[in-house]
Amino acid sequence: MRNKIPQQPAKERIENFFEVALGFSKSAAEEEARRCLQCKDPVCIKGCPVGIDIPAFIKLIKEGRQKEALEKIKEKNNLPCICGRVCPQEDQCEAVCVLNKKKIPINPVRNTKALRGINKISNGVNIGALERYAADYELNQLSTVSCQLSENRKLKTENSAKIAVVGSGPAGLTCAADLAKMGYEVTLFESLHLPGGVLMYGIPEFRLPKKIVQNEVEYIKSLGVLINTDTLIGNTYSIDDLFREGFKAVFVATGAGLPQFLGIPGENLNRVYSANEFLTRVNLMKAYKFPEYATPINIGKKIAVIGGGNVALDSARVALRLGKRAALVYRRTEKEMPGRIEEIDNAKAEGVIFKFLTQPVKIIGDEKGFVKALECIKMELGEPDASGRRRPVPIKDSNFVLDVDTVIVAIGQGPNPLLPKVTPGLKTNKDGTIWVDKNFMTSIPGVFAGGDIITGADTVISAMGAGKKAAVAIDKYNRDNLSFS
Ligand code: FAD
Repeated sequence: MRNKIPQQPAKERIENFFEVALGFSKSAAEEEARRCLQCKDPVCIKGCPVGIDIPAFIKLIKEGRQKEALEKIKEKNNLPCICGRVCPQEDQCEAVCVLNKKKIPINPVRNTKALRGINKISNGVNIGALERYAADYELNQLSTVSCQLSENRKLKTENSAKIAVVGSGPAGLTCAADLAKMGYEVTLFESLHLPGGVLMYGIPEFRLPKKIVQNEVEYIKSLGVLINTDTLIGNTYSIDDLFREGFKAVFVATGAGLPQFLGIPGENLNRVYSANEFLTRVNLMKAYKFPEYATPINIGKKIAVIGGGNVALDSARVALRLGKRAALVYRRTEKEMPGRIEEIDNAKAEGVIFKFLTQPVKIIGDEKGFVKALECIKMELGEPDASGRRRPVPIKDSNFVLDVDTVIVAIGQGPNPLLPKVTPGLKTNKDGTIWVDKNFMTSIPGVFAGGDIITGADTVISAMGAGKKAAVAIDKYNRDNLSFS
């Protein structure tokens, strides 16, 4: 049977921000690796958005060669410590593993959410945990691996053009790393004071320790990438300024960090937060370490989190760890929740209260303008909508009031609007995402884009996939232009 990754017990972990999943031991990893059938036509590779040679790295683990397993993964994935922790493998590589009880058609990379739950009691190889095991080698041995790869870079110096990357989330980091490996001089601009994007400010420490993100950033720096933080492109410098500074191409990876709200009465009350603000204050500004960090967060004791995705789950679980009671309010049922199944199970074990088929209609305030309660209506499921999920329909006269004093809205994020707004000629789609052609080139020649800024809120691995493909396209653009001139 599939080996499960050991975890901190639920009762203990809600008292701290340490990592929930503890990782495989050597013997557990090798035992799990032995389960892989080493298929002749490995469908798991097709299920991976960046095409990691999964059977090859698993075979190396089986042989006790953890370092070589990591190197195999790194051929395709610059951020394995991160992907081993947060990738939705259950919808991707693991979903199509032939060891699963139910055979699932190969439907790689995107829109696999329709498959959700099919493999809930899955017997497929625990690829995510094995990736994490291989990648964790680097946590202890970082300098050796980095030096080796830096040496590789020195061998490939034929491309010396300067490339700018805007945004240091997984799309920007991946593109920057791949271009640096090709020999380009890459400068990465980030508006926040630390690089990493959502990996730093959104995903909480207990799912993705920030030390790991910074280790991955150090690896990317070791490839020669220069990182300029506190630099808002579109404000500090325009895209035109970057070209004037001698950059030959620009990759825009500014993500989807614009919170969406419900548009119901009471959303301007005190103690109503977007999940983005709440998580940034806790994760990036370390509100949970107050007074060591002088940035507390003003929340009450009874928190309602509205939404059903990873962002909502993270917010509720952070609230629990701050010593609060957390209820997750979702208008559909558990089956339709877009959050990762593992994280839904974790949230349940930790004591998050789930209010399914419930839609908020009004946030009620007290005389001082603070949240006092949340008025909701009961829902039932109707016909499927465009997403394939059954549409929630309000049940007449079913209104009721939830006793809460803080509301966190986690119903989605839109693309960051600043750069398109101040960049003449940069075409956007109706939903505000940046328009790109099949080579990730925007409407401005030499300006490329990828990640959540072109897809809307998606996943780490799809952002990385875009960063990889864009790096190849930028290299081709640069070569074509050089040979033309
Ligand atoms: P981002 O990670 O958003 O990075 C964009 C960066 O650009 C940011 O650092 C931003 O500050 C910077 N920036 C923006 N504008 C400018 C500018 N003008 N100039 C300079 N810098 C700028 N995905 C998963 O696969 N698994 C998960 O478990 C998961 N959990 C999530 C939990 C939360 C709370 C959130 C918010 C998202 C989660 N996701 C998860 C989604 C995933 O993190 C994103 O899809 C991914 O980070 C997108 O990568 P990106 O590089 O496109 O953008």
